[in-house]
This record gives sequence, structure tokens and C-alpha cells, in this order.
Amino acid sequence: MSTVKEQLIQNLIEEDKTSRCKITVVGVGNVGMACAISILLKDLADELALIDADADKLKGETMDLLHGSLFFNTSKIVSGKDYSVTANSNLVIVTAGARQKVGESRLDLVQRNVVIMKSIIPGIVQNSPDCKILVVSNPVDILTYVVWKISGLPPTRVIGSGCNLDSARFRYLIGEKLSVHPASCHGWVLGEHGDSSVPLWSGVNVAGIPLKSLNPALGTDSDKEGWKQIHKQVVESAYEIVRLKGYTSWAIGLSVMDLAGSMLKNLRRVHPVSTLVKACWSSAGLLLWDFASGGLRSYL
Ligand code: NAD
Repeated sequence: MSTVKEQLIQNLIEEDKTSRCKITVVGVGNVGMACAISILLKDLADELALIDADADKLKGETMDLLHGSLFFNTSKIVSGKDYSVTANSNLVIVTAGARQKVGESRLDLVQRNVVIMKSIIPGIVQNSPDCKILVVSNPVDILTYVVWKISGLPPTRVIGSGCNLDSARFRYLIGEKLSVHPASCHGWVLGEHGDSSVPLWSGVNVAGIPLKSLNPALGTDSDKEGWKQIHKQVVESAYEIVRLKGYTSWAIGLSVMDLAGSMLKNLRRVHPVSTLVKACWSSAGLLLWDFASGGLRSYL
């Protein structure tokens, strides 16, 4: 006797099994899951793959996400410890690895996370030789270089989240000081993500009006309005959030979604990311993602 499904549905043509846009998130910790939910809610993928070394956590997170399927438009979510689940990904987001504990700097994580990258990247490249890799794990600038080296991919296909989050924090805090939405407050933080990042005060503007033209001391020690504190807050905010809640997640998840959208849709937006710039390794690059010209064009 035919099943309900067989009686209800008759496929007239064979279903297309290949995904048009597949994103893999490696690591289903706080950051990985914040990236995953942001990507789902933004409709960036038709298939999402999750992978983690912790099988129980991976299964639990996947079940929890799948139970929300009614509320998003990604038809396929797959997960597993075997890297074959990541096959044919367009974009692989790497968030696996150790995170900062209270008092630890990002650079303190380097040894542990280099070992972890060596265990992850070969399986990724083997299953998705045409993918682009977006590294988020810290220290992100160093690990992006490490991942690029391990992957054997062209430098244009491996980037790190760089100062995209630092710049978002900067714009939020400028907006708070001015009572203006962060999207209307323009400014850039460049250099190494975190402690040694550099704010570009000369570029800070609202509606094209440079704030330095209103206060030439902006961002300097002699500035009586204390704008310099804003960058100090940007640098210290991760430490404060780690002290308060143990980890950071939501803002980095949203900032990764922003980068993923630009990369997958070739939006030609400019972002501060970790990349090779003119043969020098730096996160100071401003990048325009451009598939038409074969990848990334870098500026600076
Ligand atoms: P977490 O501990 O919550 O999650 C890490 C996950 O990685 C865990 O689920 C763990 O099982 C998994 N993992 C460890 N080794 C693995 C391996 N070999 N293969 C697969 N999975 C493995 O940590 P988190 O809070 O999600 O942070 C993740 C990383 O993101 C950290 O390095 C953190 O510093 C970094 N981070 C970066 C930024 C940024 O702006 N670039 C911002 C926040 C956090």
C-alpha cells in the first residue's frame, strides 16, 4: 500500500539536489552559532552546513536550529563531524578554536588555534576546492595567514574578519555620542583586530561633514571633548563583555553576516578585513569584493 507521502506527492521532474549557495560554519560555539543564526535570518544560503569536534554539542545545536525551520527560508541544514558534510561550499566561515578567558589577550590563543586550524583546513579544501574562506577565530590576522598557508588557495580566497567588528563598534559609539544612527556615522578602524587597532579620525564624518573640521583636536590628547575615549572603548569592549558574560557573540555574528553578504552577492562594498596587501601581510586593507575581476581588489 502506498504511503501518505506517495499518495500526496508525485514528483514530475527529479529534484535538483545541488545547492546554489552553501555556507559552512566551522565551530558551533558562541560565535559560530551567532554567525549561523544571522546568516539564516538574512537568507544568505540555501544550504547551511555545521561542523564541530564536539559531536553532542553539534547535534544539539543542529536540532535546536532545525526546530526553527518554520521561521527562516534555508531549506537544508546539515551537520556532522565528517568534513564530507561541507562538500561544495561556496563560503566557509571558520570560528572553531579557543577563545579568550578573563585576562587573556587574543594573541595568547595563537599556539592552540594554529594546531586547531591544521586539523580543520585540509578537510575543508579537499571537500570544497573552489570555496572562499572567512576566518573569524583569534588572533584573526595571524590565523588568516596560517589558514591561507595551510589551504594552498590563492590569497584572494582567504580573508579574515579583520577590523569589520572594531569599525562597527566605533561607529556605534560615535552614534551614541552624537545621537545619530551608526549607519549615518562613517569611520574606520584599521590595523590588527583588537589591542593595536588604529582609528582613522581624519575620515570620521556624518553626512560628509568631517568631524575634524568641527573640532581639529578630534581624537588627540588635547581634545577637550574626549573623542579619543571612543577608540579606547572599542579596544576594551571585548575584554569587558568577556568579563561580564564570558564571551562575545552577537556583534561578531552580525558583522560576519555583513561580510558574507558582500562576498556572496558581490555587493562591491568596502570592508576592513585581514588580507595580503601589496605583498605585505596586514589587516589594514580596504577591500572591494569583485568576482568580475576574479576576486578581491585591495586598496591602501
Ligand atoms: P567557543 O569555545 O564557544 O566555541 C569554539 C568551538 O570550536 C567549540 O564548539 C569547540 O568544540 C570547537 N572546536 C574546537 N576545536 C575544534 C576542531 N579541531 N574542529 C572543530 N571544532 C573545534 O568559542 P567562541 O566564543 O565561539 O569563539 C570562537 C573563536 O572566535 C575564538 O577564537 C574567539 O577568540 C574568536 N572571536 C573572534 C572575533 C573576531 O572579531 N574575529 C570576535 C569574537 C570571537
